[in-house]
Amino acid sequence: MITGKNCIGGQFKADGSVEFRTTDPKRNVPNPTVFVEATKDEIDTAVDLAWEAFKVFRSMPGKQRAAFLNTIADEMLALDQELIDTYMLESGLPEGRAIGERGRTIFQLRSFAELVANDDWRENTFDAAQPDRLPQPKPSLRKTMIPLGPVAVFGASNFPLAYSTAGGDTASALAAGCPVIVKSHPMHAGTNELVASAIVKAANKTGMPKGVFSSINGSVQAGIDLVNHPKVKAVGFTGSIGGGRALFDLAAKREEPIPVFAEMGSINPVIMTASAISKRGSELAKTYAGSITLGTGQFCTNPGLLLTLKSDDAQSFIQELAKETVAIAPQIMLHPNIKKGYISKGDTVTGQEGVKVVATYDGDLDANEAAATIATVSGKAFLDNPKMHQEVFGPFSMVVQCEDEAELLQIIEGLEGQLTGTLIAEKDDTLNLPKIVDALQHRVGRIIYNGVPTGVEVCASMQHGGPYPASTDSRFTAVGVHSIKRWVRPISYQSFPTELLPDHLKK
Ligand code: NAP
Repeated sequence: MITGKNCIGGQFKADGSVEFRTTDPKRNVPNPTVFVEATKDEIDTAVDLAWEAFKVFRSMPGKQRAAFLNTIADEMLALDQELIDTYMLESGLPEGRAIGERGRTIFQLRSFAELVANDDWRENTFDAAQPDRLPQPKPSLRKTMIPLGPVAVFGASNFPLAYSTAGGDTASALAAGCPVIVKSHPMHAGTNELVASAIVKAANKTGMPKGVFSSINGSVQAGIDLVNHPKVKAVGFTGSIGGGRALFDLAAKREEPIPVFAEMGSINPVIMTASAISKRGSELAKTYAGSITLGTGQFCTNPGLLLTLKSDDAQSFIQELAKETVAIAPQIMLHPNIKKGYISKGDTVTGQEGVKVVATYDGDLDANEAAATIATVSGKAFLDNPKMHQEVFGPFSMVVQCEDEAELLQIIEGLEGQLTGTLIAEKDDTLNLPKIVDALQHRVGRIIYNGVPTGVEVCASMQHGGPYPASTDSRFTAVGVHSIKRWVRPISYQSFPTELLPDHLKK
């Protein structure tokens, strides 16, 4: 049962007096449960408990942390339909998506469990001593990875399970040996509480210290208090550029600055060559209409920018893309505020000089349904106006018609950092593909060839994170087992006797 309380080191508490409710975006009404924001004292207690837990949790054998992660997965599954129903009620997302996202979350938890069941992930290295080396002896050196400390996680609005309470950030941090304090996304506080209860049960069953996990409800100030707390040692965030950047700046200004791994906005450029458009324009229009409207366009990998060369074929493609896109039945957005943002950001972009709306859905819409829109603009106008480069979070895409290859390259090279870039081309293409790939790879974290950017595979070779502002540190991924590297740091032991080394370095 959902109580509306905060989870402070395993105890469900509500000492505060500020209340809020989530929204049912389908019916556009507040949901019945009243949630209570955490007080500053509760936040401090959660972090103090996390710090105490860290002293034990950090040196637990990997197998024990693996058991914890697998038991979280089991307990999440045991929540069964209550979790699915709450997810749908708070996000407006359909049942299939809820079940699919739960599956992905379980898979992530189990993948990290498998990863840390042995110590290979620590990339241990050993350099033997050479006492007789001249002119100086070489000492023995062993290098490994150790966890940073308590991690604050900010849940994403567009992934209530896979990038929230027990999502990728939490699973990877716990796997690394870092206790976690989640700031629940206010749009899905109920989903958060259910998952938090699963984590607490798993922690109790597997003998974890009580501060290993906490989850607090709260507004912006709660997030600020958390990031400012001296015992918080790293932050994971998924959301807007404004939010991620504010937390990044805050963390940098602390007396002890800490890393903030924020995954933020992206317009995910897609380069469609003239050869590809003339050969399979109709097929591409259908495929891209599906990708642009998938999940009401509320994916960080949504293709918000299509780059083509100006031609008659490109004109026909744009018309067809617009027709296919607005023919797809409108879907609900996550929250009234997300819909408001969609309208205002869409208006800003389409209001710029030179931008032409090709088509926008003009049928009846329920309160939080979004009107899919396709716009177009010339390469020159796009180059001259960075306001057109901003993410319109929702079913929106802009087709930029470039004069020639040189202008296309100039646009790619001038783009802000992106999560993905896609190349739609032919084998014997007339465009200089190596040149395009070379320019694109320096602006993105993942390049897709003849596909769509939506759909992020969870595996070791996935890179989800790109140059700023796609993320705050392009050297790391937020998806896949390598995301554990965000929460650890290297340490070398020099000339150490075996008995004083950590267990995983004794071999
Ligand atoms: P958000 O506004 O960035 O909020 C995410 C979380 O960060 C929330 O818990 C929020 O708390 C907190 N937060 C935001 N600004 C903060 C600040 N200055 N200091 C401390 N905490 C702060 O993102 P959202 O609510 O998920 O969605 C809003 C917009 O973000 C969307 O319309 C979309 O444009 C963008 N977005 C992009 C992606 C992507 O993957 N590219 C994903 C999700 C959202 P409060 O809610 O209490 O403010």
